[in-house]
Amino acid sequence: NDKILEVKNLKVSYHTYAGEVKSVRGVSFDLKEGEAIAIVGESGCGKSVTAKSIMGLIKGPQGEIKQGSEILYHGDNILNYNKKQWQAYKGGEVAIIFQDALASLNPTMRVGKQIMENLMAHKHMTKDEAKKEAVRMLQKVGIPEPEKRVRQYPHEFSGGMRQRVMIAIAFACDPKILICDEPTTALDVTIQGQILDIIKELQREHNTSVIMITHDLGVVANIAQKIAVMYSGVIVERGNCEDIFYRPRHPYTWALIRSVPRLDLENKQVLASIPGTPPDLLNPPVGCPFCTRCEYCMEICKEQMPEVTEFGDGHEASCWLHHPLAPKVEMPGEA
Ligand code: SF4
Ligand code: MG
Repeated sequence: NDKILEVKNLKVSYHTYAGEVKSVRGVSFDLKEGEAIAIVGESGCGKSVTAKSIMGLIKGPQGEIKQGSEILYHGDNILNYNKKQWQAYKGGEVAIIFQDALASLNPTMRVGKQIMENLMAHKHMTKDEAKKEAVRMLQKVGIPEPEKRVRQYPHEFSGGMRQRVMIAIAFACDPKILICDEPTTALDVTIQGQILDIIKELQREHNTSVIMITHDLGVVANIAQKIAVMYSGVIVERGNCEDIFYRPRHPYTWALIRSVPRLDLENKQVLASIPGTPPDLLNPPVGCPFCTRCEYCMEICKEQMPEVTEFGDGHEASCWLHHPLAPKVEMPGEA
């Protein structure tokens, strides 16, 4: 079994004064060793909550992972871990990089020391070894003059350089799984590309499995082998990159693809945004979650959750348009 992680029927709710917000409503996917999967969707779709669940960051009393959810790491359900198992898992098996490197770094500690701490704790290096390795890591992630930079504090780095530091810290404990939650969202396009290249290179070198969380389909093509498109707490379509980009089968994926910034266009800021807002997860719709924004919405969409249709090679979509009795519509990429 080369599956390193299996998420099965994950359901996560947040308890608020207004009631129970069902943020993740039955998400399943798996990840092989060395593989990268992207989870793509708008903010509030449950992608970050899914990531937090895998990191053990869902905290009561507000946050609750529902009974029946499973997150198997090498076959063991991490949700049943004891304190010691959690420590080992979080300390060395998984790491996360957030969008906001400044908030995740310790502002009062030199960056070299922050890398060294991980190396000493998880790789049992001596101080001298860790110091050398920290310099090497900074060089590795493309930070010039690493001998000088190790002695500097986070505020002395630019946004892109700080994100590189975060990557160095994450890889210092040689994680088996790296979760990247919008790692490049705050950065301009050129820097984005560089950061993704560094993640990709280190991933190959360390044979790390990566979960890339993003709202931007544009950043995933070069890094992920598989894509899961999330909407309103559920995965509405999944497949390999080819299938998702060239043979998408869900109207929400079509809309996402239309909203990817095109670098070849004069004004790259003007994107087709998706009209409307996602449903209220205090009262999720009984039918298709996308029905309020979908231009193809039919009566049945409002009444029943669509079944999953399989298209081969792991490509699946949940949409009534694929029912044999549905009216034929032209699928993008088919023409
Ligand atoms: Fe649109 Fe209906 Fe498909 Fe939902 S099931 S995406 S509403 S066509
Ligand atoms: Mg988020």
